[in-house]
Amino acid sequence: MPTAGSPQRRAILTGGLLASAALITGCSSKAADTTSADAKASAAASPSPSASLTAEARPDSPRAAFARLTEGNRRWVDGTLQHPDRDPKRREFVAAEQDPYGVILSCIDSRVPPELLFDTGLGDLFVLRTGGQVVGPEVTGSVEYGPMTSGTPLVVVLGHQRCGAIKAAYEAMRAGKSLPGNLQAIADALKPAYRETVKGEHADPVDAMIRVHTEQTSAALRSNKDLAPMVKKGDLAVVSAYYSLDTGRVEVLSGTPSA
Ligand SMILES: [Zn+2]
Repeated sequence: MPTAGSPQRRAILTGGLLASAALITGCSSKAADTTSADAKASAAASPSPSASLTAEARPDSPRAAFARLTEGNRRWVDGTLQHPDRDPKRREFVAAEQDPYGVILSCIDSRVPPELLFDTGLGDLFVLRTGGQVVGPEVTGSVEYGPMTSGTPLVVVLGHQRCGAIKAAYEAMRAGKSLPGNLQAIADALKPAYRETVKGEHADPVDAMIRVHTEQTSAALRSNKDLAPMVKKGDLAVVSAYYSLDTGRVEVLSGTPSA
């Protein structure tokens, strides 16, 4: 961060959608023309991905938010990560208030960190992670927080390949056994997915249950009495998705936003 201490750079970075040259003019004691030229030189001398993305508009529709995540996941798959919004300037920018554009509900699995696989940064996402991305009242309330308090336009429920929590629950239920300690609470939350899965024939029943559970969870959120009105108005989308550990790709199962 060679320019971290520069007031001009700070103005560019934290100005967001404001015209950076005008902002810098206002911060400077120099004549406007000179300052504007300095600002352009400063911006040209330090073009970093973080700088350009920090100044990018926050997606304000479900479709725009989903497109931002999809672009980030493509970079993760391709190995062309930009690591946006991950520097001290971004920290300063969001210190006073946050305005994330997405909520991600995913598993605790160490190989499924949403900020990495969607190539996002500080202040971009509300992230909730539980074993098998199961929900209870506290988790549901936490998913609702962004949409209900600040209009967060997108919720993604993200299941993943080879989910150990769902595999353990599937095997326990099939054997008629319980999981130890509080792990049983996770298995209990997965019972509806298990019951649905065993109705059919599946080459890989655990993978089928992962997908069923992810879709059931997103459907429940989509029709929840607090979120459903926002979904109906087109202000919120609840997407169900599946992450491949092998490829890094996020596959949509249902709920691709149309607006
Ligand atoms: Zn998992």
